[in-house]
Amino acid sequence: MTLIFPSKPAPMVDIAGLSEKFPVNRIYCVGLNYKDHVVEFGEDPDKVDPVFFMKPADAVVANGVDVTYPSKTSNFHYEIELVIAVGKQAKNVNVEDAKDYIYGYAVGNDLTRRDLQLELKAIGMPWDISKGFDHSAPISAIHPVSEIGHPTEGRIWLRVNGEIQQDGNINQMIAKPSQIIAALSQLFVLEPGDLIYTGTPAGIGPVVAGDVMEAGIDGIDRLTTKII
Ligand code: MN
Repeated sequence: MTLIFPSKPAPMVDIAGLSEKFPVNRIYCVGLNYKDHVVEFGEDPDKVDPVFFMKPADAVVANGVDVTYPSKTSNFHYEIELVIAVGKQAKNVNVEDAKDYIYGYAVGNDLTRRDLQLELKAIGMPWDISKGFDHSAPISAIHPVSEIGHPTEGRIWLRVNGEIQQDGNINQMIAKPSQIIAALSQLFVLEPGDLIYTGTPAGIGPVVAGDVMEAGIDGIDRLTTKII
């Protein structure tokens, strides 16, 4: 079999302490997974559940790599998030077994065209174009479970130009990593190489060209991204 044009190699994410790379298969995302963010997003945390959406695998951007301000938005937002890296195929797994499928964890930024998201949400249309655009998924190196275990608490924070904007704790997540993997594995066959962005705490806001976002999750890593 020959190809009519060369296929692109899988997008790659660094693994802390290893020369091997993590080849990205799919990027899943969880929305509305911190109560204080659900409230700031204008929803009632007692009436909505976390939601799933996706980004293309080649949206990943490594730590320290600049992101160009995207087209078709004038309200471009950051969202600091814990990212799960899937290491084994997972299909219909139980919450009790879900941790076995996690290779490691990283720090991610779910970049969002907020104006488009709110317009599409208001008319009940899919918000893919507000979330799944080019370079919309900055991510730190992945830290294997064999090194850091399964973090259940730790400050999750983001600064813009040195000023703190988001400041929460991953222990505030509504759906925990095991519950997220169990739920997603009922909807999709998860594969090694899948990344799951697990939602953001309160404090979302805009950035413009020239801004520098520094973010981190204590016990995992930091992630710095400049908008140009
Ligand atoms: Mn998000």
